[in-house]
Amino acid sequence: MKDNISEEEVRKFNKLALEWWDLDGSFSALHALNPLRFNYIKNWTELKNKKCLDIGCGGGILTESLSKYANHVDALDMSSEAISVAQNHQELMAIKNITYHQNNLESFVEVTSEQYDVLTCMEMLEHVPSPEKIIESSSKAVKVGGHLFISTINRNIKSYFMAIIGAEYILKLLPQGTHEFDSFIKPSEIEKWSRNYGLNLIDLAGVIYNPITKTFKLTDDVSVNYMMCLRKE
Ligand code: SAH
Repeated sequence: MKDNISEEEVRKFNKLALEWWDLDGSFSALHALNPLRFNYIKNWTELKNKKCLDIGCGGGILTESLSKYANHVDALDMSSEAISVAQNHQELMAIKNITYHQNNLESFVEVTSEQYDVLTCMEMLEHVPSPEKIIESSSKAVKVGGHLFISTINRNIKSYFMAIIGAEYILKLLPQGTHEFDSFIKPSEIEKWSRNYGLNLIDLAGVIYNPITKTFKLTDDVSVNYMMCLRKE
């Protein structure tokens, strides 16, 4: 189970790590998206006094938001550079209730007996060889009645043009080469894997970018970017 890691993806994120907290840098889209996804999470679950696990946390953009409400946040990423940037930023912000781990989910669930109230796996599934294995391990890490939040990119002709050609080459919202079309995932695929591991779909919402206002908003259209709320039954 230790090999659900793409060395190439991790290398890519290691190279960009110093830009994690640059609001105009390679991760500016994640900064713009963060308030929307954080509100989405708070809309579907209570965070106060809860134990959270952020999977593929990068430099800690969402992790730090979660830490404002949660009792404690454990956060995992395979990029050692991202983890070190996240830890430095945590220190800068004097945040006490986050523990960063340079690890992947599959190995982490083998060594921890903890189960979490809330799992978040944002913009990460499309960077691993087997997203299904992440769903399987997430189901082990989440308590019965707890929630898993996912965001990723759909796989169809429109998402190819919008998320790769549009976002990387025309709007230059993301660095070129950020995403591979074949790694995109249909909501129905996630739903099927999730059901097999005891996670039920509670909500599916589309996310759309407005290049004029440079903001994201929710939409019924899930054909490109989307978020999901799942609950362990
Ligand atoms: N979730 C964060 C970062 C998304 S970028 C956010 O939305 O703000 C995707 C992150 O997944 C990168 O930091 C990358 O290093 C990490 N990643 C890629 N493969 C991984 C794996 N197998 N296990 C854990 N993290 C991984």
